[in-house]
Amino acid sequence: MARAIYPGSFDPATYGHLDIIRRAAALFDEVIVGVLNNSAKSPLFSVEERVNILENITKDVPNVAVTSFSGLSVNFARSCNAKVIIRGLRAITDFEYELQMAQTNRVLAQDVDTMFLTTSLEYAYLSSTTVKEAAYFGADISKFVPEYVVRKVEEKYRRNPAG
Ligand code: ADP
Repeated sequence: MARAIYPGSFDPATYGHLDIIRRAAALFDEVIVGVLNNSAKSPLFSVEERVNILENITKDVPNVAVTSFSGLSVNFARSCNAKVIIRGLRAITDFEYELQMAQTNRVLAQDVDTMFLTTSLEYAYLSSTTVKEAAYFGADISKFVPEYVVRKVEEKYRRNPAG
């Protein structure tokens, strides 16, 4: 059984993330999306909310599971019995950081490999940060994120207009 994890912040998940999830799900028997519980960042959505969003937008893909984790991705991979970490590469700006992380992970865990999927061109510019910024200033974000996520982001900014 070939299993992969797809770790990230997903604050919130965008069509870019969803594209990577679907394509990874076509390559592996099972893909476990891992929402990183990172105390250093102050996210818009709690870990539970991000897991809920991902579960909702991936419910039509049967071999995808969503969970949260803390600590190292390689340890999360091992705990899932997965040999592969999936990451998405958007542009050259992602490359240096991603390469460094993949190499570090490789030294930490020789039994786990990182696989990069290049972004579909239509989503190459998308990031959770720019989506939040656009929403904060009242822009229509329905081209960037699924309808369910549009609603969740709008709810956040309505309830907490200071951001
Ligand atoms: P992190 O904080 O770990 O970078 P993100 O949620 O920003 O978490 O991203 C998780 C993964 O998804 C990363 O590998 C990132 O490069 C990838 N990713 C982010 N946005 C896109 C996109 N628009 N298209 C494809 N992959 C993306």
